[in-house]
Amino acid sequence: MTDPQDLADRVLDGELRLYELDDQADADAAATARRLVIEAETGADLEAVGEYAFPAGQAEPNIENMLGAAQVPMGVVGPLAVDGGAASAAATDAVDDPNGPPEHYLPLATTEGALVASVNRGASVITESGGADARVVENGMTRAPVFRVAGIAEAEQVVEWVDEHEADLREAAESTTSHGELTAVDPYVVGDSVFLRFVYDTKDAMGMNMATIATREAAGLVEDETPADLVALSGNLCSDKKPAAINAVEGRGRTVVADVTIPTELVEERLGTTPAAIEEANTRKNLIGSAKAGALGFNAHAANVVAAAYLATGQDAAQVVEGSNAITTIEDRGDELYASVSLASLEVGTVGGGTNLATQSEALEVLGFGGGGDPPGSNGDALAEVIAAGALAGELSLLAALASRHLSSAHEELGR
Ligand code: NAP
Repeated sequence: MTDPQDLADRVLDGELRLYELDDQADADAAATARRLVIEAETGADLEAVGEYAFPAGQAEPNIENMLGAAQVPMGVVGPLAVDGGAASAAATDAVDDPNGPPEHYLPLATTEGALVASVNRGASVITESGGADARVVENGMTRAPVFRVAGIAEAEQVVEWVDEHEADLREAAESTTSHGELTAVDPYVVGDSVFLRFVYDTKDAMGMNMATIATREAAGLVEDETPADLVALSGNLCSDKKPAAINAVEGRGRTVVADVTIPTELVEERLGTTPAAIEEANTRKNLIGSAKAGALGFNAHAANVVAAAYLATGQDAAQVVEGSNAITTIEDRGDELYASVSLASLEVGTVGGGTNLATQSEALEVLGFGGGGDPPGSNGDALAEVIAAGALAGELSLLAALASRHLSSAHEELGR
């Protein structure tokens, strides 16, 4: 076996580059050598970074120049009762209460003290109220290449061809995947640029690689058959990892809604406030405040639950941008409080990406949704439903804390 110190010395002598270490040794030895180089170059001690619980080779599809692993503490929320279109059917490992909807434990990885406790408080009230309902109302991962044309006359020609040949585009796109299905191609024209927003059902995969590969094939057909020239496979109308109204309006990934009704008595007893006060906090903060700020997300902190669930379950963390496109509504119905969260663009998968890594796949196992679903897509839907219910729990708890003015004291006690 190659000695990592020898490899590190060769890098330090300028004989090898950091990224060439994987050609010289197995992935774990290469990572050890890289730590030795970085320790020598920077004086940092990387002992903890080197303590990881999976073979480095397993992470090869996920990382280059691997040093080790960043460890984020993982907590758990639950039991959280969710009656979901997919979550109920897929809930083999859920903590079943025979009298109610399936109960789930949702792993959350975060460094924000008080977050898990707060979401857990909301989850416990939701479960005591009989559970949340959650449904995926739309599903479509998008990729939107941009093409150059001579002007609007040619643009019209391209759009007409696309309209008439959707079946051919579908055949080309779907030739690259055994799971993905092309469900729409939406054209947008700006001067001499034509954007085609391809929409896919990517089943249990988040689908960004799948959609990109399939779109490359379809874009080739557009170039062959029309005057359009491909400029970029992603033309930003997709829109991936950037705040964009198109995702908030049209959706991207899973569009998922969770809601719950909570008896007024329970709100008062467990949340220490009233439905009227929570409704007012939601209206003035999440609706009016967000509108005045020009926000895309009209919620209190949906991104907190989305980010923590993404880190725990191996999702692409940068897509928390889209995960924050959520609207929270609260209504005081007299004898009960109605609360909902609608996440327009929750991009999640239970296969591919980081879902196969050791801790991430264990977290998906806790939920009971790891791997491909039966039917395909049902595990991805189920994960989206439970994350949405978690976000609802977070919204309820934070709004209640604000309404009862407990927020700063909770952070003081738990987060410092
Ligand atoms: P992936 O890991 O590239 O591919 C997942 C593959 O799993 C699918 O292509 C599919 O193969 C297969 N599969 C097996 N069972 C499946 C099932 N039940 N449902 C769906 N697919 C199943 O993952 P991805 O979801 O396409 O992409 C996620 C990755 O893309 C993440 O790592 C993310 O960071 C990265 N990403 C890429 C881009 C980009 O522009 N390329 C942008 C953002 C993020 P078949 O297709 O052969 O059926």
